Amino acid sequence: MSDTEAQLRARIAELEAQLAAQPVIPALPEEHDGQHIDWRLWEEGIVSLCSNLDTGCTTCGHPGPLMLTFGFALPAVEPRRRSERGRKIRRFRAFRCRACQETTVYDTRHDEYGRQEYEEIAYHPPRTIPAPQEAS
Ligand SMILES: [Zn+2]
Repeated sequence: MSDTEAQLRARIAELEAQLAAQPVIPALPEEHDGQHIDWRLWEEGIVSLCSNLDTGCTTCGHPGPLMLTFGFALPAVEPRRRSERGRKIRRFRAFRCRACQETTVYDTRHDEYGRQEYEEIAYHPPRTIPAPQEAS
């Protein structure tokens, strides 16, 4: 093996290691039910002061808070109804763990009593192998 080849191989290994260390943020769905979704930027979720609410990642054990984003989809205006009124904005919500990148996307809707319901529409499994839990 020549020096140049060894150098190139070392450089490739270095770049591969850099690439592996970079978190790959899973892509959010661009549409659902034929409706285009506009996503906001990821932001840090709110840390709940309520200790009975788990704000961390249940998959890898990262203490959190999880990253959070919202998406909106505006249905097309029905031909017979020319008014903008009555167009219901659909809201979506996505949660992502900053450590293992596990991402879950929900369609949020309200039932007939006005209660908010979540329906999972997309899931990205973790990109890294969960670290073994340390005994405490
Ligand atoms: Zn995680």
